[in-house]
Amino acid sequence: MESFLIQRATRRQAVSAGTVALLILLTLALAAPRAGVQWPAIHPFMPMCALTVFTTAGIAAFLLGAQFTVTRQPMLGALGGAYAFTALAVALQLLMFPGVFSPTGLLGARPTSAVWMWVFWHGGFPLFVTLAVLMRDRLSRDAIPAGRVGLWAWLLIGGPVAVGAMLCGFALVTNLPPPLHATNSDNPVAVILWAINAIAVLLVVAKSRLRGVLDVWLAVAALACLTDTTLNLLSTDRFTVGWYVARLFSMLAPGVLVCVLVWEVTALYRRLFEAHVSLRQASMRDALTGLYNRSYFNEQIGTTISAAQHAGQPLSLVMVDVDHFKRYNDAFGHLKGDACLAAVADALAGVVRRPADFIVRYGGEEFVVVLPETDAQAAQDLAERAREAVLRLRIEATAPSRYVTVSAGCATAAPGTGTFSIDMLVETADAALYRAKAAGRNLVISAQALPAALT
Ligand code: GH3
Ligand code: MG
Ligand code: MG
Repeated sequence: MESFLIQRATRRQAVSAGTVALLILLTLALAAPRAGVQWPAIHPFMPMCALTVFTTAGIAAFLLGAQFTVTRQPMLGALGGAYAFTALAVALQLLMFPGVFSPTGLLGARPTSAVWMWVFWHGGFPLFVTLAVLMRDRLSRDAIPAGRVGLWAWLLIGGPVAVGAMLCGFALVTNLPPPLHATNSDNPVAVILWAINAIAVLLVVAKSRLRGVLDVWLAVAALACLTDTTLNLLSTDRFTVGWYVARLFSMLAPGVLVCVLVWEVTALYRRLFEAHVSLRQASMRDALTGLYNRSYFNEQIGTTISAAQHAGQPLSLVMVDVDHFKRYNDAFGHLKGDACLAAVADALAGVVRRPADFIVRYGGEEFVVVLPETDAQAAQDLAERAREAVLRLRIEATAPSRYVTVSAGCATAAPGTGTFSIDMLVETADAALYRAKAAGRNLVISAQALPAALT
């Protein structure tokens, strides 16, 4: 099954993603030269950002994982893993961060633990994205077998989480000096970290050539992570311009994916809803004539009868049948017969005007007109107009009649006649129709008002 995420990006999506990417680059160009400038210290800013990253990355991981279980496309599972890793890494970094939950950080953190965890987070995310992108070629070719989805979900999403937990252990116990310095241009850890981020952006663009919806937004997310890393490496001190802007971008990397996923799921839901409505409408209609079909009649008539009985109003039913239609088919063929039926249906529909009235194709060349709040005389008048409307079509027929004609039988359930069923009403109209046929066709006959007509 194909995910909406790997569908081709529309022009609008490409333009939106391109605009966001340009804004990121513009912000980077503006912030980079001033990265070291100190701004006022807002202490809750860092935990607030970290919590946002944790929540959005967690949601992104969940949504991508859910998409993976449906589509079984490994790239979606692997991306879910990248975001699950981010969620764990940022949560652990927050716990270790000195001065957030305790002066020295929780989990027995050393002074360098949070910095190490930050490096792992900013190296791990692009690395896992790179791995996911490398799986892209397998996309839509080999979906994972349905029976193995659970196992693969554990591997693709649980794997990066396990790596995150191990890196956390390392960050907590390592005696190594802090991985980042005040200036990082000659710091190998920083150079490698930056290179991993840059390669991830290039790979996303090169491998996908930005064809799919996911591709374009993943490129934006990878670019946001690269910008975040760049600004942080330019200024490792807290509360500097680089530090503040980097934190904003750290929220953008998972945030952009969550927005796209939710947007696409909503768009999918809208398409599904519209498809459901049009399917439901189509299921009520007869394909040849466009009139309501028998199942609509069956569904609707109960309510119509109850409403009539409740309101103490008459309810009439006219059964119309094309005369000698078998002969017409035999003489002109079934295709012409179909066209004739469609024309007759149009003519009949033309005389049914009130909103509560409805006409259905009851059987092959039989139609039923349901007329709430209509007494026997009014129903007979309407049937007469219907008969004349068909005759006016002047559809050539064979003997005994020159033109195609219809006969009609009318039945009315008048108020105060006690309870009646739809079968009683149909049988009565049918009996009247039979009499019209016997009396020579091209005729309308009305049964007596119920229940007398049944006796
Ligand atoms: P009567 O005047 O007594 O109603 O005679 P009739 O020939 O119309 O009645 P009969 O029930 O013997 O034949 C009905 C014919 O309607 C037979 C069938 O081939 C034709 N018919 C039913 N549905 C369709 C359809 O969808 N298209 C076409 N072309 N013919 C249909
Ligand atoms: Mg018939
Ligand atoms: Mg007939």
